[in-house]
Amino acid sequence: MEKRTIKDLLGNYKKQLHHDITVQGWVRAFRSNRFIALNDGSTIDNLQIVVDFDKFDEEIIKNIKTASSLKVTGELVESQGQGQSIEIIAKKIQILGDNFSEQLEKTVLQPKKHSLEVLREQAHLRFRTNLFGAVFRVRSTVSFAIHQFFNQNHFFYIHTPLITGADAEGAGEMFRVTNFDLNQIPRDENGDIDFEQDFFGKKTSLTVSGQLNVETAMMGLGRVYTFGPTFRAENSNTTRHLAEFWMVEPEVAFNNLEDNIDLAEDFLKYVISYVLENCKEDLEFLDKRFAEEQKQKPEKDRAKEGLIEKLQSVVKKRFKRVSYTEAIEILLNSKENKKGKFQFPIEEWGADLQSEHERFLVEKYFESPVVLFDYPKEIKAFYMRLNEDGKTVSAMDVLFPGIGEIIGGSQREERYDVLKEKMNAMHVDTKELWWYLDTRKFGSVPHAGFGLGLERLVLFVTGMTNIRDVIPFPRSPKTAEF
Ligand code: ATP
Ligand code: MN
Repeated sequence: MEKRTIKDLLGNYKKQLHHDITVQGWVRAFRSNRFIALNDGSTIDNLQIVVDFDKFDEEIIKNIKTASSLKVTGELVESQGQGQSIEIIAKKIQILGDNFSEQLEKTVLQPKKHSLEVLREQAHLRFRTNLFGAVFRVRSTVSFAIHQFFNQNHFFYIHTPLITGADAEGAGEMFRVTNFDLNQIPRDENGDIDFEQDFFGKKTSLTVSGQLNVETAMMGLGRVYTFGPTFRAENSNTTRHLAEFWMVEPEVAFNNLEDNIDLAEDFLKYVISYVLENCKEDLEFLDKRFAEEQKQKPEKDRAKEGLIEKLQSVVKKRFKRVSYTEAIEILLNSKENKKGKFQFPIEEWGADLQSEHERFLVEKYFESPVVLFDYPKEIKAFYMRLNEDGKTVSAMDVLFPGIGEIIGGSQREERYDVLKEKMNAMHVDTKELWWYLDTRKFGSVPHAGFGLGLERLVLFVTGMTNIRDVIPFPRSPKTAEF
């Protein structure tokens, strides 16, 4: 490409000094009718344009407003002023688009304190702020690093379907997919909905996970992963749940639970290191913002570390590995539980852990990312491998500070008979999942995998607090605008 981005230019300008160059971008600020801070989205840093207003039509100067889009040609020189290395002395300025900037300025560019909610209602415009620019550049880099990690480790990327005929993939409520005329849904002789007349000739839904499909690919390709959108109609209006989110799901033949935990830890550390290395400017910006946010909080709720510090320490620390049974002991004996501080008190072994318990373990007790494993079989999905004790399954959850569960995974049940028995006991339709059971008939192997919610990782890395602020167009109960 002939055209250079501002990122490229700021990083490497020596050869072009004292030459005329052309840049394009949006005005972030126009100071004293003389200095334009131009941004093209390639980096959080702006390029300074110096405008000698004697040389330009008054009309043009008047129309250069915040958010105006410009094409500027001029001489590239080393900057006299502070705060930037280079600047362009404008010779020609062309305004590229209309600009009703007063409106934008009020809502998006200079929002009030409670602004993130306001910005969510302007999701189509929020990309133009420094904050969302940083968040979505980081999100893009995280996605790239994920593919890079798997590619370097000889995994194959499998595209699993978004429309599924399986009614129970083992996680969450599903959204139905149909092309029935909703005013005239065909019924059979019993008065039940006749799905045979529907598009696929059966009941179909949007997938809640690509795992079952990707397991079938694992049985031939060995190391595979899927990375795509998943959908859950759970009505949980929390800051960590979306109705549409992106999930990364590796599946590895011949891996046991311990291998799986090792993979999850290496994977998270790789991606976080990659972002630390490749998103320096954005992270510095987010780090400052994070520090500001902490100042607003009461002392006891403040984070102990800064954002970048926190990321560095996660990369360095070995994650604590703790069995569910040990975790329950710790929780039962905790002051918090005894004094009734938990909203859901822990009464006995077998209890499902809530995010308050997960966060207690991570933030108060261990002060480190924690991997919990060997959960009671009753609270985990049917495909998780039954342990020798007959009571627990080889499940693992990775818990992160400030987030809670970031990864959920397991060694899978590879034994045909045991799997079938578990499906029956848990009322999972073995007829519908005949193909899944089939994989255990021919050359079945021990294997393991996990699911990472992309947005939860992006939340962690950016220090944002609401999951709706780390996906471009959030889908949650009662919101599907844009
Ligand atoms: P949680 O207990 O937090 O609701 P889960 O146990 O239902 O999560 P899994 O089915 O194990 O989640 O999914 C794997 C990963 O997908 C989770 O560890 C989490 O990172 C992410 N995830 C799950 N549900 C959502 C959601 N509604 N929105 C965003 N991410 C999610
Ligand atoms: Mn889970």
